[in-house]
Amino acid sequence: MTPTRVKIPRPLQSFAGGATEVSVEGATVGEVIRHLADEHPGLEKHLFASSGELRSFVTLYVNDEDVRYLQRARTPIHEGDTVTIVPAIAGGTSGAPTAPKEPPLGRDQLVRYSRHLLLPEVGVIGQKKLLSSKVVIVGAGGLGSPSALYLAAAGVGEIGLVDFDTVDASNLQRQVLYATRDVGRPKLDAAKERLESLNPGVRVTRHAERLGSGNVLEVLRPYDVIIDGTDNFPTRYLVNDAAVLLGKPNVYGSIYRFEGQASVFDARRGPCYRCLYPEPPPPDQVPSCAEAGVLGILPGMIGTLQATEAVKLILGIGEPLIGRLLLFDALEMRFRELTIRKNPTCVLCSPSATQHGLIDYDQFCGVPQSDSAAGGIGIPEITPEALRDELGSADPPLLLDVREPGEWEVVHLPNATLIPRGELPDRVTEIARARAVVVYCRSGQRSSQATRLLLELGFQNVRNLKGGLLAWSERVDPSMPRV
Ligand SMILES: [Zn+2]
Repeated sequence: MTPTRVKIPRPLQSFAGGATEVSVEGATVGEVIRHLADEHPGLEKHLFASSGELRSFVTLYVNDEDVRYLQRARTPIHEGDTVTIVPAIAGGTSGAPTAPKEPPLGRDQLVRYSRHLLLPEVGVIGQKKLLSSKVVIVGAGGLGSPSALYLAAAGVGEIGLVDFDTVDASNLQRQVLYATRDVGRPKLDAAKERLESLNPGVRVTRHAERLGSGNVLEVLRPYDVIIDGTDNFPTRYLVNDAAVLLGKPNVYGSIYRFEGQASVFDARRGPCYRCLYPEPPPPDQVPSCAEAGVLGILPGMIGTLQATEAVKLILGIGEPLIGRLLLFDALEMRFRELTIRKNPTCVLCSPSATQHGLIDYDQFCGVPQSDSAAGGIGIPEITPEALRDELGSADPPLLLDVREPGEWEVVHLPNATLIPRGELPDRVTEIARARAVVVYCRSGQRSSQATRLLLELGFQNVRNLKGGLLAWSERVDPSMPRV
């Protein structure tokens, strides 16, 4: 048998006695590589995993053909064939590796990133990819905090943060970017300081604006990878749609109480979020994070999964969560995985797409609403100041709290009655029809729906507390915690 020529890539030449080419025998690609590693034991760990399988980031070519599209390790070798070993590079589609043109890593960088450099899957080339990459995180909250911290630590060159909130004391239970002294500061100012003190080599770009159809493309366009750390549906759909239109991967994460989800939506290679959920759910069926509660550690779990996927996408290694929905249950401490397919009739990413632009969904729980949107048309309202006066009168109205019991436990108005909105149709007989009723919730949205329901059921004198407890705390009783 005539020996086959194997071309050794530059990073591996030192393990083959400096040779650029080695001749070994073998009838298949697998045999050739096996014999190569037997002759040069230093190559073994670079070519084979401990299981004996060829490493997934080593790509082999026979002449000009990638063996993954032939018979993989069983691809037969013919006389005169040349086998080429190609280490992984980003995307895995651009053929032979090219040495990056950037300057070599400095001494500080060699030390800071040494645990990355020791990984053959990252190494100097991978670290340089990270340093020249740009990731944008939409939402600097529970999911965005751990993502941003790990991406900054990993040396992602530019981190964009999109958020217009200030730090609230109730954020500190899970938003680990912020410290107690940051309460009241704009989140992005505190985040930039924290991330740059963690890694001065990282550039943090602040986008202190609410995303909408008018600015989302412009904000997200400069970045390679998008991390969706939003807590509301309008922004989630907007980010998905923008990612599809821009042709960028969208690393998705969401959390609810003790459960989380993660996936990677990349319409070029798999499904988008609309393939999974074509339309947002009706606003009244969606509790916001603030209303539903969430285990503080949960966004830490999901946010670090998102950061992991972003780093893998940048490095072009491993199996991204494309086409897979990862479900996590913290109480059971269990991960499950569902296959999600590209919807062949997706309104956004299929050939028969009917949606070619962006949609602003504006009436949702969890998103501060304008008064008219929150109140609904024709719903009688009472302002916090007027309610204070009526409560002090001889004939005060009945206060009906339609939040959840957990929210009631934290804070409620004196002498109020608790009937969660979902239970209202069954418990309506508990409310005296003769009395004036004022319905309230956290922001005035759920109570607006409850007011409408009571009016439809024939109650004569029902009003909604405009702006809910948030407005009450702001304008009547500042000592009431805003939660
Ligand atoms: Zn789709």
